[in-house]
Amino acid sequence: MSKRIPATLIAGDGIGPEIVDATLAALAALGAPFEWDPQAAGLAGIKAAGDPLPQATLDSIRKTRLALKGPLETPSGGGYRSSNVRLREEFKLYANLRPARTIVPGGRFDKIDLVVVRENLEGLYIGHEHYVQIDDDPHAVAMATGINTRAGCRHILEYAFEHAIATGRKKVTIVHKANIMKALTGIFKETAEQMYEEKYKGRIAMESVIVDACAMKLVLNPWQFDVLVTTNLFGDILSDLVAGLVGGLGMAPGANIGRDAAIFEAVHGSAPDIAGQGKANPVALMLAAAMMLDHVQRKDLGDRLRNAIDATLNVDKIRTGDLGGSASTGVFAKALVSRITNG
Ligand code: NAD
Repeated sequence: MSKRIPATLIAGDGIGPEIVDATLAALAALGAPFEWDPQAAGLAGIKAAGDPLPQATLDSIRKTRLALKGPLETPSGGGYRSSNVRLREEFKLYANLRPARTIVPGGRFDKIDLVVVRENLEGLYIGHEHYVQIDDDPHAVAMATGINTRAGCRHILEYAFEHAIATGRKKVTIVHKANIMKALTGIFKETAEQMYEEKYKGRIAMESVIVDACAMKLVLNPWQFDVLVTTNLFGDILSDLVAGLVGGLGMAPGANIGRDAAIFEAVHGSAPDIAGQGKANPVALMLAAAMMLDHVQRKDLGDRLRNAIDATLNVDKIRTGDLGGSASTGVFAKALVSRITNG
């Protein structure tokens, strides 16, 4: 038997427990080497420990440095701060890797194979926001501060270039808005150009695109892109756009990578509208689990999982409602397990 790898498991809120159960069944069928340490977060964390990110959960991740996580609910406007953002900050998970690959052909866009690399810790998401009162309006002016550092830019750009080269990609596209936010995103473009000259020229192609033009180009001709790397807010928006090119959020996995830990999750949220109904598509989390297997040097198992997902969707034609099918989460998981077991 291969060496067991300790990993933290967070079921999450809403559809989280359903898709995590389905994913665990697939990983068990593969004989994946993880030794799970189940921990609570989100609403379940509040229930269990009065905190959406309990100390025991942080301690577990600090020890294992590896986690598979279901979606965590965050109230909009007021309420507690996003546990996802807190996790990224706590473990300095500076790189958010979001691949998008067509698995179910015949959609609006075919043969998509893109990766969005999003900076995860800086930019306009640092939470430095406030209102200024004028006369009797306490919200008369809203202000936000964005911070991008040279060191932060170098980290994420190096990650994107190295990942692109290691995975045989041809081109890295730097996405920015340096024509308007000349300092905040100019530093990102400038650092990319310097690093390219220093280290990457001749090893891979690089181009720069302004974010608004990039959004249009992604819809008109997404095949012109390969790896996109960008700052936090632009990356958040573009990665959802790119998920839409391959069939929606149910197909989009994500990895949060840092020096201290790596946390794997689906891009989507807790989908409260369908929670508890057995309708959720577990594929995004399963693809995240495949990335987790790649991360622990078990690409053989990651590939087996991806191939079994492909066969279940396209040969067996077992699909959940978001993909136009009628299978429940459990029926999909069962069919996938039988694909893994029987080939
Ligand atoms: P959402 O991603 O939960 O849902 C958007 C739409 O997509 C909904 O109609 C939902 O039913 C559908 N959907 C999402 N995942 C699906 C799946 N696997 N299968 C089928 N359909 C799916 O976004 P939201 O409703 O804006 O957010 C709900 C909550 O999730 C919020 O509290 C938000 O803060 C949180 N959230 C968490 C994460 C995370 O944990 N990483 C990410 C995004 C949102």
